[in-house]
Amino acid sequence: MFVTAESKEFLKHLLCSGYLQQECFRILVSQIIDCGEDTLTPQQRSVVFWQVERRFVTLKCACCGYQPDWIDMLEAYEHDGLCTTCYFQIKRAESLADQAEPVEDSSSKPISESAKVTRLHRWFADDRDMRGRN
Ligand SMILES: [Zn+2]
Repeated sequence: MFVTAESKEFLKHLLCSGYLQQECFRILVSQIIDCGEDTLTPQQRSVVFWQVERRFVTLKCACCGYQPDWIDMLEAYEHDGLCTTCYFQIKRAESLADQAEPVEDSSSKPISESAKVTRLHRWFADDRDMRGRN
């Protein structure tokens, strides 16, 4: 898994990130960076598989299905398994949806004081109209 220079660069970022807290895992990762994955015993490989690969390596973006580049791999972990492209597309879509939300909708949000006053005025105006008509 961690043979290329890019993948080892990812392991270095992982060490710096602080996500890998247990010393024994950090030692194994350092060993891969310095001496290569080949130098691990089968038992150590298994530990790396479960504690590093399965936890921090995104093989498929949860949205588009492509494997993120190693340089984006830590971000993919931080973005719940989304590649950088999908993550920002989803974020942008979410912010557009927020902006599109009608301002008049006050059911879930507290009404500001000025909005309350405007409503009150409008209500009085309606009330006057009604009486005027009668
Ligand atoms: Zn994607």
